[in-house]
Amino acid sequence: MSDDPIDLSSARRPRKAAGCPICGKPPVPDFRPFCSKRCADVDLSRWLGEVYRVPVEDEAGEQEP
Ligand SMILES: [Zn+2]
Repeated sequence: MSDDPIDLSSARRPRKAAGCPICGKPPVPDFRPFCSKRCADVDLSRWLGEVYRVPVEDEAGEQEP
């Protein structure tokens, strides 16, 4: 509660370089964690298909992990 170590030196923690969740290729900044828009699209389709259909009113703007 009171112990909140803010280590600036370790602020740059190594992120999980997992690669594209769809094909496993290294992701690109524009579409990460995907390697391309195609894969991002595939994932989105999967998500929409596996879960329920969510009425997308907003354009992709609020996608916080
Ligand atoms: Zn990919």
